[in-house]
Amino acid sequence: MTDVPPPRILVLANQKGGVGKTTTAINLGTALAAVGETVLVIDLDPQGNASTGLGVDRKARRISTYDVLLAESSLAEAIVATAVPRLSIAPSTLDLLGVELEIAGDKDRAFRLKRAVAELIAAERHEQAPAFSYVLIDCPPSLNLLTINALACADAVLVPLQCEFFALEGLSQLLSTVDQVKRSLNPRLSIHGIVLTMFDPRNNLATQVVADVRRFMGDKVYETVIPRNVRVSEAPSHGKPVLLYDLKCSGSQAYLKLATEVIQREKQLRAA
Ligand code: ADP
Ligand code: MG
Repeated sequence: MTDVPPPRILVLANQKGGVGKTTTAINLGTALAAVGETVLVIDLDPQGNASTGLGVDRKARRISTYDVLLAESSLAEAIVATAVPRLSIAPSTLDLLGVELEIAGDKDRAFRLKRAVAELIAAERHEQAPAFSYVLIDCPPSLNLLTINALACADAVLVPLQCEFFALEGLSQLLSTVDQVKRSLNPRLSIHGIVLTMFDPRNNLATQVVADVRRFMGDKVYETVIPRNVRVSEAPSHGKPVLLYDLKCSGSQAYLKLATEVIQREKQLRAA
């Protein structure tokens, strides 16, 4: 047995689609790995965009998070390496669409992922699996059983919020779901932070949205704002995180800054 500290488990959640969850899972994961952390991304979205964006094409997804949730495979068996050193992924497939129905009748339906992650951590202790310092879970755009599984096993939630007029709409629903999960399934769950994404400084409305979100959510909002940057949206079609595609672009630099901030917050949370 070795004394490996357990990984920090962060969930990217927002029931709105297209707000930057997957982009943040891929690129925050890459940025954390770039500064020396060992990162596992768990793709819990049937669309599998995090898997594609990290270069794991569909043919290569032999074992997926679907098999893990059905307990037909262990999480360790699903994990594949990516082109980024220290960054691995447990990919998803469209099979995940059906998982909700398959496990709906089971008493432990909300704890399927938690059990799989706990097994992985136990295996790490026995050095049978790689030790991760961060686990990032990419959720589908819905507060469904997949997202509940992610929230039930996580330490904290990271909420990507797009800098648009309706940004705050839906946030209260998400926060109340987090609160409910905290009360009923996972007392240690907290909000890690809110990250504003796709910011365009030429857009007055976006600037107003940033100010509003900061006013409502205070220091829960990360200082780093992710700019709208075409390089960020091009990278996935090359199967690469933006940091490998164009390290110098504003998007890559912002995700590196966010990683530093996330690590800083972790230190504060641990000291508290
Ligand atoms: P979600 O996972 O929340 O549905 P995505 O991360 O898939 O959202 O992002 C939605 C779309 O916006 C994608 O096409 C993505 O490439 C694009 N996108 C995300 N972040 C940025 C950004 N900072 N700049 C430009 N395009 C972005
Ligand atoms: Mg997504």
